[in-house]
Formats: sequence, structure tokens, C-alpha cells
Amino acid sequence: MLADLENLFHELIKGKEGIIGACQYDAVFDNLMPVQQKVLSSLGTGRSLIVFGIFHSPRALSSINLRKNGKTDYASWNIYAREYHQLNSILNEVAEKMAEYVKGIPIPATTQGVASNINRVEDYYTGCISHRVGAELAGLGWRGKNELIVTKEKGCAVRFASVICPSRLEYGNRMDNNCQDCTACLDVCSVLRKKAVLKNYREQCRRFIVKLNLEGDVCGKCVKACYNHWNSQP
Ligand code: SF4
Ligand code: SF4
Repeated sequence: MLADLENLFHELIKGKEGIIGACQYDAVFDNLMPVQQKVLSSLGTGRSLIVFGIFHSPRALSSINLRKNGKTDYASWNIYAREYHQLNSILNEVAEKMAEYVKGIPIPATTQGVASNINRVEDYYTGCISHRVGAELAGLGWRGKNELIVTKEKGCAVRFASVICPSRLEYGNRMDNNCQDCTACLDVCSVLRKKAVLKNYREQCRRFIVKLNLEGDVCGKCVKACYNHWNSQP
């Protein structure tokens, strides 16, 4: 069945590049924070979680954090922000169609537009499910030093969505962490560099994103650094 789902997924993403895998629903539940366990249970239960991602384009990634005439080029940076929205909306459509196919429940890519409407990052966890746990358990990537899922294909330059599936599927295996001695994401972000000593680095990240005020809740500097790192590997 997973092979059929892979074919369907690649048809649905209309020429974009993506990855798909599956893991046990219960394993995802057990690895989520309690607040996210409640959100997942409220969506529904199943035997498996199908997790899939679409990669960002090189053009959007290269638009992040450029300088023009000695100033940050926010107009260019918004190319990435707009693609972020586009990928989320494709993923949400794909999740709906995959859920119909397996008689399951779609979990959208993310809840958009919340970063500036909340006062602390913890409020975000009550409204949506992080797909990172599922992606890790499905063997699509490992948790990198920037806490995002790093794929062998394009680093962290990927957006995810999921579907709760009532059937048992073929499950992936968790990948080893392959960051090794790379520090590319830490080199571009002081928040990440101070992650271990900050009380809550995610909140600092959220505040930085709100301050950036792009056309989406994004920054992407650590995503671009990771993509460039993997893209430069022989
Ligand atoms: S998204 Fe930006 S602020 Fe947040 S961790 Fe990545 S580089 Fe740092
Ligand atoms: S940039 Fe390097 S250290 Fe950071 S997540 Fe990617 S591979 Fe890991």
C-alpha cells in the first residue's frame, strides 16, 4: 500500500520534489509533548501516520537574507515567505486527498499567521501538531542541531504534513544523526548558538520572526545554511 501512496503523492505534488514515509501512530503519540498529545488525540486515532514533505526551490532559498545597497533585501526574502505559503497550501490539499484515499484524517502543514498573534511560543503547541516527530520516526531525516528535520536530499529545506491512517503500513527506520562536525546553522544564528544557555530559544526565534515581519511566519536563515551545506557535499 505504501508504494501506491508514494505514486499518488508524487502525482499530487505536480512536478515538485518530495519525500514520503510512514510510522506507527502510537510511537508518534508517545514521543509528543503532553500538550501535543492532546491535540493529536482530538484529531483522531489510527494505526499509522503517513508523513510527507515537499522541498523548497533553490530560487526561494537563495532569496533569504540578502543585502542590497548595504541593507537587508526584504523584498527578495519574501520570495521564500511566499513559497512557504504555497508549499503549505499544496501540502494541505495533498493531505486532504491522501486522507480520502486511505479513509484517514489529514493533519495540515501548519497553522499559519500565529507567530505574531501569540505572546509565547508555548501557545503555538496547543493549536497544531509538529510533524517533526513523525518525520523522524518514519526515517525521512534526523533532528539537526537547529532542531529541524534534516533530509539527506536537501537538508532542512522541506515542509511537512501528515495523515492519520487506519491501516498498518510499511514503516521506515529512524536515521542516525548525520550533522557530524557541521555548524552551518549555528554560524548564521546567534539564537541557535546560545540554545543551550537560553531559557527558551524557541521564544527568541519566534520574536525574531515577528520582528522580521515578512509575508509569513518565517526566517529561514538556518534552513538556507543547511541546504547550502548539503548542496555542497560531493
Ligand atoms: S528560523 Fe531564524 S531565528 Fe529561528 S533558529 Fe533559524 S535562523 Fe535562528
Ligand atoms: S546546518 Fe549542519 S549542523 Fe545544522 S542541522 Fe544542517 S547538517 Fe546539522
